Amino acid sequence: MNHRIAVIPGDGIGKEVVPAGIEALEATTGRFGLRLEFTDFGFASAEYWQRHQRMLPADWEETLRAFDAIYFGAVGWPTVVPDHISLWGSLLQFRRTFDQFVNLRPCRLMPGVRSPLADREPGDIDFLVVRENTEGEYSSVGGRIFEGTDRETVLQETVMTRIGVDRVLRFAFEQAQNRPRQHLTSATKSNGIAISMPYWDERVAAMSERFPRVRVDKFHIDALAAQFVLHPEWFDVVVASNLFGDILSDLGPACTGTLGIAPSANVNPDRHHPSLFEPVHGSAPDIAGQGIANPIGQIWCGSMMLDHLGHSEAAAHLLGAVEDVLALGPKEAPLTPDLHGTGTTAELGHAIAERVRER
Ligand code: ATP
Ligand code: MG
Repeated sequence: MNHRIAVIPGDGIGKEVVPAGIEALEATTGRFGLRLEFTDFGFASAEYWQRHQRMLPADWEETLRAFDAIYFGAVGWPTVVPDHISLWGSLLQFRRTFDQFVNLRPCRLMPGVRSPLADREPGDIDFLVVRENTEGEYSSVGGRIFEGTDRETVLQETVMTRIGVDRVLRFAFEQAQNRPRQHLTSATKSNGIAISMPYWDERVAAMSERFPRVRVDKFHIDALAAQFVLHPEWFDVVVASNLFGDILSDLGPACTGTLGIAPSANVNPDRHHPSLFEPVHGSAPDIAGQGIANPIGQIWCGSMMLDHLGHSEAAAHLLGAVEDVLALGPKEAPLTPDLHGTGTTAELGHAIAERVRER
């Protein structure tokens, strides 16, 4: 089957890890008789900004809409364009226009990677954070009143719609239903946030009736953050509102070791619009240009993209190859410096592609 993929390497190490990701994807599609057709775009980068004083061309929406998915590196080069402009001018436009209402972050402790949590082994940490990506606490409803007086007051409203809450919950329940443990944890704070979070809880309870096989529990966000660190093995799929999900989706990957291997996806599950797959890390100006960035976050994103496109077997094969190479350790495999090796981005990319072909 053919899929058209828009490739946006962006800035800094994005331009270095994306080729390694494509190499691994091509090795995988070769084995599974799939075809991905990649088209490269230079926009959403500091270079594009320098030439055009904007991040995207006027017709970006029609251009990208023609693709099945967007394979994204990293955007941001603060010495040329301030981060809020590069981010708002590119990624956040994609997220909103293409209604990517789920942000997905798999958190798995890989073999050979040291967790900052003591005595944790692969298998102990393997959960998925599902973050609501379009509404909730990050609304622009609110403002300041009595400004400059001693009654100065600031309000910012949380907006939850039934459609918005239910669609992310449905997605999370489906994910949980398709995983072996069939367990869903909901992040809440209905003891303190007395209007919006009880509504969230109510919708979780309603949705759970449609997924009788999924075991559901809920934690207040403060306790949940503590349990991520103390008992990461308790979690399978974790669903959270925009703000809570934002926090958990940084805390989760942090528990699994290096930023260099963590993937993420901004998903439009109905596939009415293209979804976007990007590593958790940014453009990393401090190591850009040296060829030593870890490409695994980008490669893992490729596995998520295959899964999203309906090729779960190919996706699992690719991720398995990553695990195999990591398990060899820095003496046997060209792991990058963040994994205590001396390998380069390209060498690690080749090793993974090779492993994909031979396993
Ligand atoms: P963002 O652009 O998302 O705001 P940031 O600029 O704060 O993120 P990153 O660019 O992700 O941060 O880099 C944070 C640190 O992690 C840097 O020291 C960087 O070198 C390191 N790092 C990030 N990605 C990788 C990678 N793929 N391989 C090795 N080190 C990485
Ligand atoms: Mg950055």
